[in-house]
Amino acid sequence: MIDLHTHSSRSDGTDAPADLIAQAAEAGVTTIALTDHDTTAGWVEAAASAQRHGISLMRGAELSTRHHRRSVHLLAYLFDPDDADLAEEMRRTREDRGPRLRRIVEHMAADGFPIAWEDVLAQVPDGPVSLGRPHLADALVAKGVAHDRSEVFARWLHNGSAFYEPHYATATVDAVRLVRAAGGVPVIAHPFAVRRQRAVDGDDVAMLADAGLVGIEADHRDLDDAGRARARQLAADLDLVVTGSSDFHGDGKPNRLGENTTSAESLARIEAISSGLTPVLR
Ligand code: AMP
Ligand code: FE
Ligand code: FE
Ligand code: ZN
Repeated sequence: MIDLHTHSSRSDGTDAPADLIAQAAEAGVTTIALTDHDTTAGWVEAAASAQRHGISLMRGAELSTRHHRRSVHLLAYLFDPDDADLAEEMRRTREDRGPRLRRIVEHMAADGFPIAWEDVLAQVPDGPVSLGRPHLADALVAKGVAHDRSEVFARWLHNGSAFYEPHYATATVDAVRLVRAAGGVPVIAHPFAVRRQRAVDGDDVAMLADAGLVGIEADHRDLDDAGRARARQLAADLDLVVTGSSDFHGDGKPNRLGENTTSAESLARIEAISSGLTPVLR
């Protein structure tokens, strides 16, 4: 069972990297990718845990990029974390997440929500964390304003909300090139998701494939049957690797580990395209 997209508490998942890996082993996952938003901060802890639990670990990240003013999530696998250009873009994105989240908090507070920046920080574990809207959602839940993250997003934090604020983001096509230059493998995450704003179309994916995009995440709970079929057709037309994943966020989302998976053949193609500098740990 190969699950190539998960989040730990180094970004907006609720489990520490070691606990995430332990749960994956328990669930029967044999290869897991850790793909926290715009950070590699969980890699070392996840690697130690994967070795202890006897499962394979693909080290990665989910980059928050932008294409024509729309947010596009790009999975990046097996890249060199010390590549200066990629690391700098990830740092800029990550470090703008705090100020951006604070702007949303201040806007909501001015609108009468019982929320302050300190309430958000109280939801964030110690150590380096890539801050995101889910941390604000947790703070609002703690205040009794909503029952769970999903309710907060549906009502106030979705991308079309009046409270929405963008953060610094690399252009998607540049991110694709940076990941390849760092020896990594870029895969577009959950394209054509039903409940999100329409971020990319087929022409965009073709353009990204020209720039070096390797794969497309077709099996993901946010894609309906038509979206999955469209992703598979594009993969066939453009010779892209098809992946599937849970996008597990611990208790932060209903997604369960291994609910969608990637084939061994796709995993092998991803590995073969990477430079090998950051190998899959077995
Ligand atoms: P941000 O990275 O701050 O832009 O926030 C985006 C993150 O919010 C995504 O990675 C998801 O993990 C989370 N998210 C988006 N929609 C929902 C939802 N309906 N329920 C729970 N979490 C969500
Ligand atoms: Fe997330
Ligand atoms: Fe995503
Ligand atoms: Zn994700």
